[in-house]
Amino acid sequence: MPELPEVETIRRQLAERIEGRIIRGVSISDARLVDPWNPDDFAAHLDGRVIERIDRVGKYLLLELDGGEALTLHLRMTGQLLWSDAVPDPPLPYSRAVIGIAGGGAVTFADARRFGTAWFLPREGRRRIWAGRTGVDAMSPSFTAKRLQASLAGRTAAIKALILDQRIVAGVGNIYADEALFMARLHPTTPGGDLTPRQVASLHRGIRDRLRMGIEAGGASFDRYRDVNGSRGGMQDLFRVHRRRGEPCPRCRTTIEKGVVAQRGTYWCPRCQPPPGDADAH
Ligand SMILES: [Zn+2]
Repeated sequence: MPELPEVETIRRQLAERIEGRIIRGVSISDARLVDPWNPDDFAAHLDGRVIERIDRVGKYLLLELDGGEALTLHLRMTGQLLWSDAVPDPPLPYSRAVIGIAGGGAVTFADARRFGTAWFLPREGRRRIWAGRTGVDAMSPSFTAKRLQASLAGRTAAIKALILDQRIVAGVGNIYADEALFMARLHPTTPGGDLTPRQVASLHRGIRDRLRMGIEAGGASFDRYRDVNGSRGGMQDLFRVHRRRGEPCPRCRTTIEKGVVAQRGTYWCPRCQPPPGDADAH
């Protein structure tokens, strides 16, 4: 599933191509994408609008339109936004919608599993609308170690589950959670409220560091993630523990383990990241 670095890569590439341009010709071939809107109404609502800016909050992309609304896209499991110089004919595989751009070019929303969504976010009341969905973006200056510490205080849930919670920090998913916990030498099941301020600071640094590296690498492509040109990212080659079960830890050579934490396949080094209660043994 695309996480912050993958969505940010797409944002930057799309911004270069379509910021300031006018939408012309929209076709929605999968009504589920825009539910509860009628697909024709949704397409007509977009047609002729200027894309003023492309923003990102966590894993959401926001195409800010003239008039104050944002076309809000979430790629979920397998969504892709693919650029082409003309409206593709025939449509690209798994195409659910095509947004034509005046003067040439088109963006296809392709999505094999069809969990991705598109909706209009009004200008008014955004704070309230976002409140239940997503919290502070992991790369925003507002996401500080102090703020993370406050979010974790008193929490007994596993730290991995807490940093996957988009209301605590938006943009971190399974890949970057594993990598950040490794950087901070924290076992994924450690209760969030048990972290010392120093450990929280280290985790905060780990999250930022790994996300930044992911953006520089153009995202991680071991599955369906592709950038707007259909190209793979390079972050999968830089994973320290994620998807490396059975391989030696890059820090201490202990064999990396895999288990399930927060219902997600989770990877860690048993020596660098000792289980909670066992910290003194190492
Ligand atoms: Zn290790």
